[in-house]
Amino acid sequence: MERCVKCDYECVGITKHGLVFCNVCVHFCPNDPEKADEYIEDMVDGEALEPFRKFSRTRGEQQKSGMIKKASKGKAMSRAPFGYILEKGHLIPAQNFREVEEIFEEFLEDKATLNKVAKKHSLSVNGLKKILGNFTYIGKIKFNNQTFDGTHKSIVSPILFNKVQDKLEKIKKKS
Ligand SMILES: [Zn+2]
Repeated sequence: MERCVKCDYECVGITKHGLVFCNVCVHFCPNDPEKADEYIEDMVDGEALEPFRKFSRTRGEQQKSGMIKKASKGKAMSRAPFGYILEKGHLIPAQNFREVEEIFEEFLEDKATLNKVAKKHSLSVNGLKKILGNFTYIGKIKFNNQTFDGTHKSIVSPILFNKVQDKLEKIKKKS
């Protein structure tokens, strides 16, 4: 048994871009390797995908024979978003989870810029942008460009999250 890099689901994995996916995540994984990277970084809770799993099981079974290759275990490393850890396939708040809220709040301060906040928390600007726009923090999961309620704990309030999205929008328009 292997674990899916995107949702940590334990299953007979399907290999794409040299990584192991479950039958649901492989189905939505972009063919462009760069986009696939982004896709994988957006971790989802395996349990939240259960409805999809049931739905796609038959199809997955049919595809299995031709698609399954054994992938090296070393590559199948799962990554949880900043502020969470993965435990038995579930996202749970990490010890540093309060830092996420701090980052959101600091970014809203009048003189705060992406650069300043990134520097303070030893993040890249891109890494910071990913954190600020990550729906995982409000308890949602984004999958196939749709947002669903996750089964994990939120660590940022929706009000704070929305304010940050507004500021990000304003910055985007200015540049
Ligand atoms: Zn998966």
